Amino acid sequence: MISKPKRKRFKYIYGPVSSWRLGRSLGIDPISSNKKTCTFNCIYCQVGRATKFSKRRKIYVKTEKIIDEIKSLPHLKIDYITFSGRGEPTLAKNLGALIKAIKKLRKEKIAVLTNSSLMNRQDVRNELALADFVVAKIDAPSDRLFNLIDKPMRDIKFGSIIEGIKKFRRIYAGRLGLQIMFIDLNKKITIEWASIIEEIKPDEVQINTPTRPNKTAPLSKKEIVNIKNQFLKISSFRGNLVLVYDSCRKAVSPISTKHALKKRGRGIERL
Ligand code: SF4
Repeated sequence: MISKPKRKRFKYIYGPVSSWRLGRSLGIDPISSNKKTCTFNCIYCQVGRATKFSKRRKIYVKTEKIIDEIKSLPHLKIDYITFSGRGEPTLAKNLGALIKAIKKLRKEKIAVLTNSSLMNRQDVRNELALADFVVAKIDAPSDRLFNLIDKPMRDIKFGSIIEGIKKFRRIYAGRLGLQIMFIDLNKKITIEWASIIEEIKPDEVQINTPTRPNKTAPLSKKEIVNIKNQFLKISSFRGNLVLVYDSCRKAVSPISTKHALKKRGRGIERL
């Protein structure tokens, strides 16, 4: 019988978690601050309400500290090493350095989950391009809905985000996913949605809804399937459509503490 690895007080690494889109995913939080640090304050945010707004890239955790934790990992079955956590991972100025250093040590693929807000910056695009899988989120097809749902910092603009993702697509040969968090406000599939996705040309679109506890209710499975069908009717996009309710979760044995998972909004799934 294989014994479960002991849980350890990792500060920057958490999981592995069973991810609906990444299989067994070991999380890295390159921000790791006590307060969520982000360019947005989404109404469905699952990592806490208190937000430290910032769009300044800086080194939050030294590269060596995270790499030391990577080196101390026990034997683990994981599919992806994923940059995410308590805030927006592209705020970490050493994101590129971290991806390069981890690639020298580990054979697993590297994913980054980003809210896309800094993808209009060339340095961010270049660093994201080092990852194998980038999941960029767009929650709205218009400036109005974007402001209502994602509640961005004042000088973060919807149009500039879309342009940033398009520029990234042009240079990126890896797998690009667009994640859309559907809630009541944005569930109507309009022609604007279809054209944004067709212009970006992602490899896949992830149709999500907030399944972990927060103050915004998730959509039902029926509503999510309806979104997919509406989308297929009006869009010529024929890449992968991945639905949160269709996911098949893999078994995992986390090596980080429950506190470390909870801090990143994990381990308390509604589904
Ligand atoms: S982008 Fe992510 S971390 Fe930031 S507020 Fe939105 S859901 Fe929360």
